[in-house]
Amino acid sequence: MDGNVEIKTAEIPVNEYMSAFRDVSTFSECCRRCGNYGNLWSCPPFGFDSEACLSRWTTAFVVAARSEVPSGLLHKEMMDMFLRPLRKKLEKRMLELESRYGGLAFGFSGECHFCSDCARHIGEPCRHPDLVRPALEAFGFDIGKTVRELFGYELQWDNGGDSPWRLTLVGALFHDRMPGEISFM
Ligand code: SF4
Repeated sequence: MDGNVEIKTAEIPVNEYMSAFRDVSTFSECCRRCGNYGNLWSCPPFGFDSEACLSRWTTAFVVAARSEVPSGLLHKEMMDMFLRPLRKKLEKRMLELESRYGGLAFGFSGECHFCSDCARHIGEPCRHPDLVRPALEAFGFDIGKTVRELFGYELQWDNGGDSPWRLTLVGALFHDRMPGEISFM
């Protein structure tokens, strides 16, 4: 990982993470207002029982990555130069952990960029199910509360013009291994 990226990890029992950090009605509503809702396979609605999918695991290994970005970048520049390259590295590592330890990985952002036009538009299955994992927020988790209470950060929001000076991405692996067994680095 690049030197200017700070990685922090935390573990919390899945039942506690679900009860204290998940607000399905609020975040489902946010998802419904997004243009990706129902248009990308990485985004809700998922068509399966998300409660059962989450609660079958015992421990949530949560990873927060922070990177400083220069001020004055346009949104697209920040996405192309910082968010997407960082996300790609983080998700590659998270998938390695999922493959090694089992469990269910979550992506570090919801929007999928693997295809120029998502197969969901034409009613076909995802073309890269081995690479795509939904984000925690797509399952109703509160990322602002997660970074505040598990890592001591406050999220900074993109104002649509000048980029935020610090980018924070959060992903996770829900698993059944012993707490403390998994390391992100
Ligand atoms: S990999 Fe392609 S088909 Fe799958 S969610 Fe991403 S854009 Fe859609």
